[in-house]
Amino acid sequence: MVIGAGHAGLAASHFLSARSIDHVVLERGEVANSWRRERWDSLRLLTPNWQSRLPGQRYEGPDPDGYMTMGEVTQFIGRFAAASRAPVRTGTTVTSLRRTDDGYHVTTDQGDVGCRAVVIASGACNRPAVPPFAAAVPGSVEQLTPFDYRDPAKLPDGGVLVVGASATGVQLAAELQRSGRPVTLSVGEHVRLPRTYRGRDVLWWMDASGVWDQRYDELDDLTRARRLPSPQLVGTPERATLDLNALTAMGVELIGRWAAVRDGRALFSGGLRNMFSLADLKMRRLLDTFDDWAREQGPGDMAEVGPAERFAPTGVPASTRLQIDLASGEFRAIVWATGFRPDYRWLDVPVVDAKGQLRHEGGAVASPGLYALGLPVLRRRKSSFICGIEDDAREVIDHLTRHLAGGL
Ligand SMILES: Cc1cc2nc3c(=O)[nH]c(=O)nc-3n(C[C@H](O)[C@H](O)[C@H](O)COP(=O)(O)OP(=O)(O)OC[C@H]3O[C@@H](n4cnc5c(N)ncnc54)[C@H](O)[C@@H]3O)c2cc1C
Repeated sequence: MVIGAGHAGLAASHFLSARSIDHVVLERGEVANSWRRERWDSLRLLTPNWQSRLPGQRYEGPDPDGYMTMGEVTQFIGRFAAASRAPVRTGTTVTSLRRTDDGYHVTTDQGDVGCRAVVIASGACNRPAVPPFAAAVPGSVEQLTPFDYRDPAKLPDGGVLVVGASATGVQLAAELQRSGRPVTLSVGEHVRLPRTYRGRDVLWWMDASGVWDQRYDELDDLTRARRLPSPQLVGTPERATLDLNALTAMGVELIGRWAAVRDGRALFSGGLRNMFSLADLKMRRLLDTFDDWAREQGPGDMAEVGPAERFAPTGVPASTRLQIDLASGEFRAIVWATGFRPDYRWLDVPVVDAKGQLRHEGGAVASPGLYALGLPVLRRRKSSFICGIEDDAREVIDHLTRHLAGGL
């Protein structure tokens, strides 16, 4: 049984079919449901088109360096489902998964099924993560998550406080500022990246230099790697960099990490300078890694790549606010771009840790015959990206095949 018909569940199905293993993919909505229902209108992939690859399917359109719209992603994944003849049962929500003597018992809103093994491909981003102090925000301020947000017109006129400066936060801050609303961005730990480096997409470098292929069991701090925020990137036809300097140039105000709400006032941490220098330092180190790799390739292979670049440090505002009176009317809306988390409320097997994450070893969950796909750094740094699923799914389904054969 495969739970979820996103690209991860469909890739699992592809390899199960290749090994003639009977299976069904259960999907509560439609194929590529998350891309259809849980993303905002202007979103494009931040990975370039040439990097959208699934087992046996590559991007073959006219714009390999462009970035897919949500409609294009849905079609791309839909085409894969059709080509691999995935046995998907749409409109079927799994409400419980229990262990039995010889496998698992799956309860759905369409009936019950027994099976010998399960692949959980229900996604890593099922729910927005919002800090508990959001409950103390005065009712006069509208609160949205990226799941509610579709376009700026849905927000009341007036100031917007965007919380979180990873990919979602920087993209929504830019879009809202362009819509004419004054935007303030609350910045916590973040990953800064230029859109292009030495003339190539920065994700080309991640791919070509092998950084994205680093394996989970070779990383110094796997827990940290799995919790790393998404990089400050956006996919636009101009291939523009969208870091904090770009947002400041647009007129977005930067403030520190939102720490608490007291008596209707939002309290923010200071220390932007330290946070910015850390992100700048980490970016420089990554660029050094790319440069070292390029040098090892020799001049022939790198003929089309430009010279090494270094970018201006993130500008620290002359003064930053540490408090905002939420009842003053300055901000009419808050957008919580504070990350996403998986939802395993239906999972009645004790394999979820205190932080709500699945306990697994490279996708083999801590219960025999139970597997996962599509989670951050599941087997490689690229695991949660579309381009990362082929290698992971092949290896996880290999493991599952050995389990079914009684070899594990
Ligand atoms: C805002 C955003 C932008 C992203 N941008 C990129 C990008 O540019 N490039 C890239 O490669 N990756 C990107 N990703 C990461 C990643 O590709 C997506 O998270 C992707 O959707 C993960 O695929 P998946 O198949 O693991 O999960 P999902 O696509 O979420 O699929 C899981 C499926 O399981 C179903 N499901 C969940 N629970 C149940 C249940 N109980 N019963 C039945 N069905 C269930 C859901 O309906 C869903 O269809 C982005 C993610 C987000 C959130």
